[in-house]
Amino acid sequence: MMQRIRIPRDADLPLIGCICFGIIDRGTNLLQVKPSSICCLNCVFCSTDLGPNSRTRVTEYLVDCDYLLDYAEEIAKFKGNRDLQMHIDFGEPTTYPELIDLVQGLKEIKGVEVVSMETKAFLLKENQIDELKEVGLTRINLSLDALDEDLARKIVATKTYDVNRILELAEYTIKTGIDLLIAPVWVPGLNDEEIPKIIEFAKKIGAKLGIQKYEAHKFGRKPKGIKPITWWKFYRKLEEWERKFDLRLKITPKDFNIHRMRMLPILFQKGEKISVEIRAPGWMKNEMIGVKDGRCITVVNCKAEINLRVKVKILENKHNLYIGKMA
Ligand code: SF4
Repeated sequence: MMQRIRIPRDADLPLIGCICFGIIDRGTNLLQVKPSSICCLNCVFCSTDLGPNSRTRVTEYLVDCDYLLDYAEEIAKFKGNRDLQMHIDFGEPTTYPELIDLVQGLKEIKGVEVVSMETKAFLLKENQIDELKEVGLTRINLSLDALDEDLARKIVATKTYDVNRILELAEYTIKTGIDLLIAPVWVPGLNDEEIPKIIEFAKKIGAKLGIQKYEAHKFGRKPKGIKPITWWKFYRKLEEWERKFDLRLKITPKDFNIHRMRMLPILFQKGEKISVEIRAPGWMKNEMIGVKDGRCITVVNCKAEINLRVKVKILENKHNLYIGKMA
């Protein structure tokens, strides 16, 4: 049974350190903002195994908007309050009850030039798109993986998904003046014939395209019988579609003005042993979240009770995302 944890300002749970909520600074001018780990779909290739059919996730997190904005503001200051982009992703942002306030708050932070959001648009409505435009949303990255109705439904494994409705919302988004980037995941063997159709649709309505490569992730869902292709093959196929549709499809962070910028300091090194206080259940079974010096540390193979102090050996620390095990 999935439990849901709300993270308010006084939760004593920092918003840096955990992959599934808070803010991730990967050393560029783009910050990933994760208000919610909730998703209402069940995509067959979901890299994080989210949604009602998840087999591995046992906790959902929901961060209060004012708390998230406190952190965003602080990190923006650390980065010099200039040329910043805030990208709301993870879970399905439209499940977040304070989405409009969040977008508005992020856009008002000094130095923030772009606020974007990644969505499958399943829960979006026209009036919400209007509101998002009003409060300053710059771009919607729409995950759309097939135009064929049956296949589209099969991919999200949700009976009520109606791809034609999503296409209406895509066209509506363009009309409001919000940039639209259609970002299908190309899963060779599953939606090969759909990608050209999506390219044509994007061209027709004036959306940009960001075709993504399917990767099999350790704890993600993997469609049966499908293996990821190499990057070489992926780019050759993109080039083929570029020639066919007379369109540039190989895009890089530079196309979005994403560049390196100083990163929040890494506080704990791999192999280091630290004492953390357990503050919340982890995202997966037998995981807990510990806290030390303003960072969350996911402790694997841990059943320690909340408020207990445990010794942890740091296994991973990339981008301030800490994973440790009981030392
Ligand atoms: S891929 Fe995105 S929309 Fe699909 S289940 Fe995962 S988080 Fe939800």
